[in-house]
Amino acid sequence: MTASTQLSYRVRPARPEAHLFDVELEIAAGAGPTLILSMPAWIPGSYMIRDFARNLSGLVAEGPEGSVAVTKLDKQTWRLDDIDGPIQVRYQVYAWELTVRSAHLDTTHGYFNGPSLFLRVAGLDASPCRVDLLPPDGAAYADWRVATSMRRADSPPWGFGGYLADDYADLIDHPVEMGRFDLLEFQVRGVPHWMAVTGRHHADLPRLAADLPPICEQHAALFGELPVDRYLFLTTVVGDGYGGLEHRFSSSLICSRGELPEPVAEADSGKPSAGYRRLLGLCSHEYFHLWHVKRIRPAVFADNGLEREVHTRTLWAFEGITSYYDDLALVRSGRLDVHGYLEMLAETVTRVMRNPGRLRQSVAESSFDAWTKFYKQDENAPNAIVSYYGKGALVALALDLTIRRDTAGARSLDDVMRALWQRHGGTGVGVAERGIEALAAEITGLDLSDFFHRALDGTDDFDLTDLFSTAGIEMRLRPTSGPKDVGGVSDAFEPVRPVADIGVRLQPGNAEAQVAVVLDQRPAQRAGLSAGDVLVAIDGLRTDAGSADDMLRRARIGEPLQVHAFRRDELMRFRIVPEPAPADTCEFRLIADASAETLARRAAWLGTVG
Ligand code: ZN
Repeated sequence: MTASTQLSYRVRPARPEAHLFDVELEIAAGAGPTLILSMPAWIPGSYMIRDFARNLSGLVAEGPEGSVAVTKLDKQTWRLDDIDGPIQVRYQVYAWELTVRSAHLDTTHGYFNGPSLFLRVAGLDASPCRVDLLPPDGAAYADWRVATSMRRADSPPWGFGGYLADDYADLIDHPVEMGRFDLLEFQVRGVPHWMAVTGRHHADLPRLAADLPPICEQHAALFGELPVDRYLFLTTVVGDGYGGLEHRFSSSLICSRGELPEPVAEADSGKPSAGYRRLLGLCSHEYFHLWHVKRIRPAVFADNGLEREVHTRTLWAFEGITSYYDDLALVRSGRLDVHGYLEMLAETVTRVMRNPGRLRQSVAESSFDAWTKFYKQDENAPNAIVSYYGKGALVALALDLTIRRDTAGARSLDDVMRALWQRHGGTGVGVAERGIEALAAEITGLDLSDFFHRALDGTDDFDLTDLFSTAGIEMRLRPTSGPKDVGGVSDAFEPVRPVADIGVRLQPGNAEAQVAVVLDQRPAQRAGLSAGDVLVAIDGLRTDAGSADDMLRRARIGEPLQVHAFRRDELMRFRIVPEPAPADTCEFRLIADASAETLARRAAWLGTVG
């Protein structure tokens, strides 16, 4: 501790086999006589109450005169009384959740986010902190290293030792990986960037190191500056997983092994595979957040703590605009061609249009209720909610194309983002609940009130067809999964005849044909079939997960199906009459045309020709 450091933390992965971190917190003299300690209930960027205190145990405190009385006040708060002199607090944290939002420790590696481990001391939020990261005991861990964007004090590069944080917010914004990892390094605008890759893989890391800089540069060019002196992607590779969380100087990613570029296959085609495209999109997404949400922040986040839910209607903007620019940067940086980009965009349109919940919940409501709805999705979610990521991305797309059309190409969403950065990025002034809407109108000179009212507060489907046509892109629809020999799909994307549909989705990965979702106001629901039911026979023929989808697709419109299903242990029979598949079972396709006029507009938008 130095004179200015009142808080000093020590973290040791003391018992990796039991998934337990030991944490010590030393509080300098003069902070008493009473101290309030607390754990956050949620982690910035993930809008769900996680109650990190539930994994904390064995909290004791000691002063110069011996142990100090500790009183627990609520699920996440403790009070220490009669303090005279420096205090040492010790506790254990159980870490066995392999997500980018919490902590994970075993004999292969350790990973944690600050909110999982670090007690906050009331009144000392602004105090600088020192963190000592200690290795686990034993020769088996001798080759473990540390990857974090936290500022080093006296630790060697990538090593255990001392680190520094400016204040509590900074302390909890640098996830830490401990273990064995591959490290790749590249520069963006002269600023060192790294990716630490943990987990088993055979990836072509040099290809990643070549593909990431142009994507990062794209975002820096959009905002006009790169406000970091270092940046770290922490990537955990698993068999099947996907997720990311943004931080000011780093991001944590989880990806599937198959999404990493393979040395041989990728060299053959040169084009990124669908999985690799998704991984680049994820990196692009989290990197964009370095400006948009980490530095340009909703005012309500700046004004509130992490003890309880903080509601905002603006997640459509912070996540949706980010979801729009993440893929856009792939085409603008030349990582994708126009065709590849339109495929990704069409997937977004399809994802939003698939769920009838889009007609029930506006994207502003989806933002506001993220805590209890988007983050707590159940079997009825497809009927009840819309994603502020997916629909937010479509709002951003529609806003961009509208601005380009109505200003004859003089302005775009890029100008709005740059202005947002200049007004809020460096200044620390939070964005008001309708601040982005007001700024967009000001920067473009357009009256966008009707656009925003419909897009953010309404639940009607957007008609993107006209907007796409301004950029020479045609939007078409075709059934997702009609068997070619029955429902049929022609090359022109027109159904030969409508596909039959009963409106259920089955649980993926199950051997049994268990119903995951019953879509609202469709034949299966009208017949009484419910989520959780297990289909055992269709028209008297045994069925399971392998055959049910196909048997249902081969049904005829208007011809009743006899369906036997178990609900709990009771066999039930349903008479279901298939109907023509509605648009939300269809897949959207985007096709670029090549007229000279729209080609120029498209090139201005996508930064590319063709
Ligand atoms: Zn995001």
